Amino acid sequence: MNIHEYQAKEILSRLGMRIPRGRVAFTAKEAEVIAQSIGQGPYVVKAQIHAGGRGKSGGIRLAKDPVEARQIAWEMIGIRLVTPQTGPEGKPVSRVLIEETVPIAQEFYLGVTIDRTLGKVVVLGSAEGGMDIEEVAARSPEKIRQVHAEAGCGVTQFQGRKIALAMGLEGGIIGKAATIVSALYQGFMEYDCTLAEINPLVLTEGGDLLALDAKMNIDDNALFRHPEILAMRDVEQEDPRDTEAMRLGLNFAPLSGNIGCIVNGAGLGMATLDILNYYGGKPANFLDAGAGASKEVIRNAFRLLSSDPRVKGILVNMFGGITRCDSYALGIVDALKAKPLTIPLVVRLEGTNVELGRKILAESGLDILYAGDMREAAQKIIELVNKKE
Ligand code: ADP
Ligand code: MG
Repeated sequence: MNIHEYQAKEILSRLGMRIPRGRVAFTAKEAEVIAQSIGQGPYVVKAQIHAGGRGKSGGIRLAKDPVEARQIAWEMIGIRLVTPQTGPEGKPVSRVLIEETVPIAQEFYLGVTIDRTLGKVVVLGSAEGGMDIEEVAARSPEKIRQVHAEAGCGVTQFQGRKIALAMGLEGGIIGKAATIVSALYQGFMEYDCTLAEINPLVLTEGGDLLALDAKMNIDDNALFRHPEILAMRDVEQEDPRDTEAMRLGLNFAPLSGNIGCIVNGAGLGMATLDILNYYGGKPANFLDAGAGASKEVIRNAFRLLSSDPRVKGILVNMFGGITRCDSYALGIVDALKAKPLTIPLVVRLEGTNVELGRKILAESGLDILYAGDMREAAQKIIELVNKKE
């Protein structure tokens, strides 16, 4: 789950990080009052969306006085902001952050994430702040300094100083930067993040270090122990398919293709995506109905996929183990009777009681294409979907 910049800043500020003075506004009038309370202008009005790249896309604007802050807020709130990170449909702006303008001497990048190759938490620092870090990583990876946290001792002050030195900082600022690295690492761990990022971290003309932007992504699987984070959820920012899957308790990840997939087991799920891609198909999602997939789960899975206009056909690929193929077949028939499908469906079953499962599907009178193996299943659904497109 993602949270907004202003929410991440609040968390980091509680951990001792310095942030610009400011507050979030839901209305234009509020924006004006907040600007007044900050003191002398100019102010920065920042659209709050779950995506970066706002600076380049009109989502960060300067206001010389509170009245202008009000005007800009009025223009921003209610629009859909399109940035290089949102996709063409953009993200809705329902609130703006009003901040003091910080006199910037230099911008840096600081991030904490998981290095999956080493299985460790990694801190990334760079003097190339304020811009797209993926671009820096691709163009000149040597400009990003990495240090890895060791289990038990986390990120040490020494490692923090290493990052600060790599950023080109000098003198007393190095110690301040190391403290910020510790605070960001602490935030990352405490809130079970997958990413905690400050881009840019800025050195002010007065020699201060401040977080000007902040991003925290929290692992969905850890949300049960962070009710205060769950309370920050802004459903409007999410892909509606994700929101619905979360509500239904499905293990679901949207993808960009047009073939909906329902499988049982993550390994079979990955294999299904692979085989579809191999034969030139484009999966619309990953959906693991789980080993015990009950009627209700199968119903919900069909409902979720068939409500997505991008899905032009569905492939069910299930393996009967302890839960037998006949149970899955009954679940599929039940789901289709509850809500008939208007798009093609291919089902491949294998394992315990496969013959019985196949018989149930065949005798259901429903328009279900049965496939004997994965190759045939993939080819059939691809052919049917391509015919429709
Ligand atoms: P995004 O990453 O979405 O583009 P940022 O919050 O990083 O948004 O802002 C983009 C740029 O705008 C920053 O790199 C910085 O130069 C400038 N900026 C943002 N907030 C402030 C602020 N409070 N004072 C001065 N400049 C700011
Ligand atoms: Mg930024």
